[in-house]
Amino acid sequence: MNTPSVLDADTIAAIATAPGRGGVGIVRLSGGQSLAIAEAICGRTLKPRHAHFSRFSDAQDITIDSGIAIYFPAPNSFTGEDVVELQAHGGPIILDLLVKSCTHRGARQARPGEFSERAYLNDKLDLTQAEAIADLINSTTEQAALNASRSLQGAFSSKIDELVDRVTRLRVYVEAAIDFPEEEIDFIGDGQVRAQLLSIMDQMAEVTHQARQGTLIQEGMKLVIAGKPNAGKSSLLNALSGQDTAIVTAIEGTTRDVLREHIQIDGLPLHIVDTAGLRESTDEVEQEGIRRAWQEMDSANHILLVVDGSDPLHDTDDPTIIWPEIEEHLTRSIPVTVVRNKCDLNDRQPGITEQKGRTVIELSAKTGAGMNLLTTHLKQCMGYTESSETNFSARRRHLLALENAGHALAAGKAQLENAGAGELLAEDLRECQQRLGEITGAVSSDALLGEIFGSFCIGK
Ligand code: GDP
Repeated sequence: MNTPSVLDADTIAAIATAPGRGGVGIVRLSGGQSLAIAEAICGRTLKPRHAHFSRFSDAQDITIDSGIAIYFPAPNSFTGEDVVELQAHGGPIILDLLVKSCTHRGARQARPGEFSERAYLNDKLDLTQAEAIADLINSTTEQAALNASRSLQGAFSSKIDELVDRVTRLRVYVEAAIDFPEEEIDFIGDGQVRAQLLSIMDQMAEVTHQARQGTLIQEGMKLVIAGKPNAGKSSLLNALSGQDTAIVTAIEGTTRDVLREHIQIDGLPLHIVDTAGLRESTDEVEQEGIRRAWQEMDSANHILLVVDGSDPLHDTDDPTIIWPEIEEHLTRSIPVTVVRNKCDLNDRQPGITEQKGRTVIELSAKTGAGMNLLTTHLKQCMGYTESSETNFSARRRHLLALENAGHALAAGKAQLENAGAGELLAEDLRECQQRLGEITGAVSSDALLGEIFGSFCIGK
């Protein structure tokens, strides 16, 4: 059991189906008293895993509805406890009455996420799988839902477990070498430890990369559209989103504020931020827009730098020549794609090239020529692959833990190389294990659990 002391012995009840009206609505009970309470409501005994058509009564034994009752005895249930599902007609009043009947007979109303929390505490799910349930339900795109489903099936957890296993074995080896220094062989310095460490670091980098893509697909990529006034930023935003969100005019400085647009390209969420033309201005409102544009730029996942490809003055693909100020922002390793817009004006063909390690796309936001190159490129940047093997959902929390685990390994490697320090390496490996354990919940705090399960809705 994950954290036995936290496990609550109460029997809990809640509506498990979505709010509103439907053909069927389900009230779920979990805990030691579930069967007794459900049998009292149904006025009959319930056999494990049988669908019983039954009447449902309130505390005064007045029939409130009839439907199906199913009893899932512990430990073979979602929560690992005795669970009963009462499937009634899907009206909010009926279902509320049914929950009241449960609470009157000794159950208490479940807290948000409490069913999933119990499943976690009873080792039915690890933390990433429990989070994947919420992500699956809250998915806004098909791809995000499929990824969450893969995490729920354990695709992400198994990668973490494999890493934990390798780190643990290396730590045991290093600690054994420290404990038995009288052995003839120099275990720490024999190259095996370093080779293992490097191989684990490679694997960690790969999983971190996949988790980063998983987070992007789940949360969406924040795409900043930046460029000089009149380059065609608003037109590009409109072409991507397919609606007139930004005002497009030929007067410089029209887009004075930061605009946000949430769109999908082939099921992948994009949060687009169009920024005020980044130029020197004495206009106070415009200055504020410019300040916000730089701010948005710093928290982006990707920057589209739009240049007017038809204007010889704009005719450079080197963003640092366009604006020396951008240099500082580009050092934050946010990928930049240069869009050379208005290719229709001088009859250039749409196309995509790599120039000095940066992707440059020729297109026309006005005619739509080359827009497909941009959307395909953006999908690739989000890590979308046709093969579902590497796709799973992840959260920012997981990414942070993976990054911290990676830092611990890097620190351990430095200790090994600079000082041959086995003790310090062992300590870094322990730190790494700890960070990885936070992801699946092998190491967790009550505060973290409260934060995660508190964000679920009731009945999950
Ligand atoms: P922003 O200031 O960067 O947001 O630029 P806008 O999107 O407002 O566009 C400035 C002007 O360029 C408008 O008159 C647009 O119609 C025009 N424009 C934008 N994209 C294209 C394009 O691909 N081809 C042509 N011919 N004109 C464009």
